[in-house]
Amino acid sequence: MTAAVLPFRTRVALRAHAVRAAARRTPGPRAVRVLSKVLEQVGWFEARLGPALPKRVAGRWILRPMIPAWPSPAYDVWLNGLLQELDPVGTTPPALAAVLFAVTRRCPLACAHCSAHDELGSKEHLSREQLLAIVDSLQAHGVAQLHLTGGEPMARFADVLAVVAHASPRSEVWINTAGVGLTVPRAKALAAAGLRGLHLSLDDPSPARHDAFRGLPGTFSWVERAAAAAVEAGLVLTVSVCPTRELMDAGGLEQIRDLAAQWGAHFIRVVEPHAVGKWSGSDVKLGTDHGEAVDAFIADLNASDDGPNGFGDAWLGRKVGCLAGGWRVAYVDSDGDVRGCPFATRKAGSVLDGELSAALTQLRAGGCARFGVPKVPGLATGVSTVAGD
Ligand code: SF4
Repeated sequence: MTAAVLPFRTRVALRAHAVRAAARRTPGPRAVRVLSKVLEQVGWFEARLGPALPKRVAGRWILRPMIPAWPSPAYDVWLNGLLQELDPVGTTPPALAAVLFAVTRRCPLACAHCSAHDELGSKEHLSREQLLAIVDSLQAHGVAQLHLTGGEPMARFADVLAVVAHASPRSEVWINTAGVGLTVPRAKALAAAGLRGLHLSLDDPSPARHDAFRGLPGTFSWVERAAAAAVEAGLVLTVSVCPTRELMDAGGLEQIRDLAAQWGAHFIRVVEPHAVGKWSGSDVKLGTDHGEAVDAFIADLNASDDGPNGFGDAWLGRKVGCLAGGWRVAYVDSDGDVRGCPFATRKAGSVLDGELSAALTQLRAGGCARFGVPKVPGLATGVSTVAGD
């Protein structure tokens, strides 16, 4: 892993790339106008999130975890989506940057916090062919990042490998996993098929407490093995933690930071507890003090160029509003139905029925119950239909 501020020459090349993309799309003064809007939006995000601290992994730059690696076809899709968002032209797809896609209902674990708890089971609702058809549909809508989740995606390894291989490079593919069965050969097979990275769940620095939280002995050792396999395979590694109040009060986040750094992780993602799924009705939500402590933890990670950088879903919500809910991110569940995020229960239509555009419009109208509509300048002014949808 190399942690670095973007070198001057790379910064210039990145700007030149954006100028060329804008000029190709709308030559002349209109390109200049949209580029100034892009710069305004970048500045708006930097003022709230802090400057990007890029990581260089396998020859590409990761500017921020929610932006595809540069250079890559997926980065171009993301950039074109942003240009379309800020300056709509014709009936091209909406600027949906990322979709979380539950590719399986299977999972050998029994985690305390499982948001998919009510949907887990041994029988899949989506065949391999349907998984591939959904990927095609999402790519046709200009989705720049696909995050495969579940269930535990590694419990359906052959189909997941097929999905990764099937997705064209126009989308970057990631896997959310608890590390189940993720050996070096499997990590290398996924990387060779085009996988960009892993979101690897680690919920306690103590092996015994992590295993208890995950409901199965031995799961901590799977995480350790999966982290090493990801790094050896050249994947981007994000350690994903769900911080309970108890974990935070015991200094667990800082210990997880140390472990993640030791493992060579590039990012730490903080996914704050939601009272849904198995935690439905439980008093698990972080209060203001713990939320502020999460923000301070992430700021501290991002204050230094060494070790993993930090980000988090609620951290992002507090800073810029919720970008899920069909604005820049949406969730496709294990039935193929579209929802705002994995914590939202309302279904807005099926990708398999060709209802993605309508579902996104419906989701955007509903807004996020917690953070409301994001206030990003120019967000989602783009046209949200695709021919044939
Ligand atoms: S949280 Fe993920 S790994 Fe844990 S039981 Fe639920 S689906 Fe399985």
